[in-house]
Amino acid sequence: MTADPRHALVLFSGGQDSTACLAWALDRFAHVETIGFDYGQRHRVELDCRPRVREAIGAAFPAWAGRLANDHVIDVGVLGRISDTALTAERAIEMQANGLPSTFVPARNLLFLSLAAAVAYRRGLSVLVGGMCETDFSGYPDCRDNTLKAMQVALSLGLAAPMTIETPLMWLDKAATWALAQRLGGDALVGLTVELTHTCYQGDRAHRHAWGYGCGTCPACELRARGFERWRAAGAAA
Ligand code: ZN
Repeated sequence: MTADPRHALVLFSGGQDSTACLAWALDRFAHVETIGFDYGQRHRVELDCRPRVREAIGAAFPAWAGRLANDHVIDVGVLGRISDTALTAERAIEMQANGLPSTFVPARNLLFLSLAAAVAYRRGLSVLVGGMCETDFSGYPDCRDNTLKAMQVALSLGLAAPMTIETPLMWLDKAATWALAQRLGGDALVGLTVELTHTCYQGDRAHRHAWGYGCGTCPACELRARGFERWRAAGAAA
């Protein structure tokens, strides 16, 4: 199958979801670059995982290695200074009065997509790929399909250039995201996702579970663990 000739930029955090997105993009597009954001996360573990995951994917999948190109890390420390959230400050992870968890960083994805589009414009890339999802998610309004569609229109108009936003995980639950990794890259991709990607809000790399490293109790760990168990159970039943 010939690759889509468009060049893509994957919003790649080093977590499970964006690793699945990176594999999805490498399977599809002839040229794939990655972008990550340093916004003063309380736990920088995820950022440290990024180069390891990229390297492992390149080593395990020679066909993808030829498509995997530049990585960009953007300093958006300003986001940590203007927002007071459990991801950027010493705050408890809890549900707030507005129905959103305290891990919600207002406008984070809007800012990230704008910056990604600016980098994509300079680099001649016309597809942005993000792991936003509204199926098994924390209720962040900037992960919703309509928000992303509105951003695609705003960016394409504002740049006077087509900028397509692809969100391959939008309608997948976490079990289906594990299944997608299995379909795209088999046991090798599942294995490196378990071993090298990071999801835990607490930055815990000390506790290893079947689904990877993490505290096991924060909302991100709970979602990842439950999805993994459901995916494994479905495989055993099939
Ligand atoms: Zn955790």
